[in-house]
Amino acid sequence: MSSILSFSFKPTETAGEKNVQKRTMRAEIFFPILLSVMITMVYLVVQIAMVMPATLPFGLQLLFELAASMYFLDLFTGLVHLNFDYQAIQNKELYLHTERDVPGIQRFNKHDPLFLTASKEDQFLWNFLVHHDVPYPAADTDYDLVMQIGKPVMAIPVSLALAYSVGLTLPGFVVRVILMLSALAPATNHIHIWAHARTRNLIRSPIWRFLQDYHLVLNPDVHKKHHTEYDCNFCLVNGWANPVVNRLAALMRHVGLLVDEPPTITMRRERDLHVAATELTAVHEKKAADATISEPTPTESYLSIIARRLTLGSGKVPAGSAPKHRRD
Ligand SMILES: [Zn+2]
Ligand SMILES: [Zn+2]
Repeated sequence: MSSILSFSFKPTETAGEKNVQKRTMRAEIFFPILLSVMITMVYLVVQIAMVMPATLPFGLQLLFELAASMYFLDLFTGLVHLNFDYQAIQNKELYLHTERDVPGIQRFNKHDPLFLTASKEDQFLWNFLVHHDVPYPAADTDYDLVMQIGKPVMAIPVSLALAYSVGLTLPGFVVRVILMLSALAPATNHIHIWAHARTRNLIRSPIWRFLQDYHLVLNPDVHKKHHTEYDCNFCLVNGWANPVVNRLAALMRHVGLLVDEPPTITMRRERDLHVAATELTAVHEKKAADATISEPTPTESYLSIIARRLTLGSGKVPAGSAPKHRRD
């Protein structure tokens, strides 16, 4: 039997594998950058607050502090989102797998060995990135959406209280900004999901529509751009910090710290190629089994080689690979 039909050809390292290595390497230095930007922004606001007239009416002062806390929360969500969007799932088969809807995601999470045997990091990243393929509704319950952010954020007021108990104090406005940020943070996932709900005309509350229209919470059109281009508008609270995060991402791409093509675009192309290669393999195997031909035509051979070189390797087609998704 020909080598094409048996696929003894060993593919060289693919573009996808190289991208995975590059993204992973770059992710290692991303966290220090994220931390540096956050610390710089906090420092700048503290400095601004220091020179503000101390005679501001308290109500106005509180409004300024609320705006600052919303800005920092938005900035933080943007940086974290940017980071995870550019991380790579290491398990190649999991990387090539996606689902078409929420029941599919829930089934895959609970019962599929491919997911259950993957590393915790890959499981987290897969669940994070599948939002690009299934933007609405959320696969998690309302409780989970709140607690995913609420749990880690609980450490902030506890730390402040502990610091206070041992005599370490911060200026009052700093404490208030931190506490307001902690109180708002658990709502982040819902604010994000409701932007997708508005795109589907599912938000009835005139107050919430007003807040979205005036960019006091995440505006659906602003977030839609992220789900179209995948390399901008990462912020999830109100988008106020998008100008900073977008410029930071552009700078990181320019200096080579991030790959040029958004990983979601790369991942979709590789899934499509994987499906094409696997389908072609199935056709060849069927022909071989039927013994209707002894050798592939030159065109079939050429297509096989190209498809095999472009994809990440062999394996059965994942159940929900490369579906066409609504991307907003
Ligand atoms: Zn994203
Ligand atoms: Zn989204």
